[in-house]
Amino acid sequence: MTIAANPSLSGKTALVTGSTSGIGLGIATALAAAGANLVLNGFGDSQAALAQIEALGVQVAYHGADMSKPDEIEAMIAFAAERFGAVDVLVNNAGIQHVATIDTFPVERWDSIIAINLSSAFHTMRVALPAMRERGWGRVINIASVHGLVGSAGKSAYVAAKHGIVGLTKVAALENARTGVTVNAICPGFVLTPLVQKQIDDLAARESLSPDDARAKLLGEKQPSAQFVTPQQIGEMAVFLCSNAASEMRGAALQIDGGWSAQ
Ligand code: NAD
Repeated sequence: MTIAANPSLSGKTALVTGSTSGIGLGIATALAAAGANLVLNGFGDSQAALAQIEALGVQVAYHGADMSKPDEIEAMIAFAAERFGAVDVLVNNAGIQHVATIDTFPVERWDSIIAINLSSAFHTMRVALPAMRERGWGRVINIASVHGLVGSAGKSAYVAAKHGIVGLTKVAALENARTGVTVNAICPGFVLTPLVQKQIDDLAARESLSPDDARAKLLGEKQPSAQFVTPQQIGEMAVFLCSNAASEMRGAALQIDGGWSAQ
């Protein structure tokens, strides 16, 4: 038996939504390190993200589509196809959070979270899947969350969107099960990114805690390992999902959550 090393993604193009920071940038970096050309997206520091990926010796471009706008999503996929010929790996990662009880949840925040964290993946897949099938190979990786599998008080829109994307992943996987296109979801626990830093800051302010104590409390309430998952670890998982070893993984929701969902 020969053991294959990490797959080479050279000659392939990956599009990662929300890749100017956090998990998206970690995934883009891992895919670029495996040789893929990249299309980046997101509202953060695009110049810094472009420089980080370019340094890995691949080609990289940026499109600033707003993931809550279907017409901008269509334009982004068309841009990627024009620039690099195809989207071979699609990572639906862009996401936002808002914490409030259902009765106090701002209606416009509900709508934005559903649009950005769930509907955007429908729109990217709707446009990108036919070309992947035509080419006979494709990988869609949806960044769900442990909140795609379990709930937490105060996170109604986020939990609804993440459970939704786990379901959407299964349907897309089934619709493409006889093709070379796989669709899977990754379900991380807490990762220390700007999205989680805001929750730490809010907790520190609410309970008059030091930043270190707030961080430990947030983790301690949910994540048995008491360690953050890292964007690099999630990036490596995405590279694995692009490998031949993963070609019969279809519709999976893979936890990487320090034991959160094992409780
Ligand atoms: P982040 O805030 O660092 O990154 C979010 C990215 O999405 C940024 O690039 C941001 O600019 C982009 N974005 C936000 N709104 C957008 C829009 N309308 N259009 C285009 N881009 C937009 O957060 P993160 O923690 O890296 O989150 C990335 C994904 O991982 C999200 O889907 C999040 O739900 C998921 N996730 C995060 C954690 C965690 O603990 N951080 C855990 C599980 C899942």
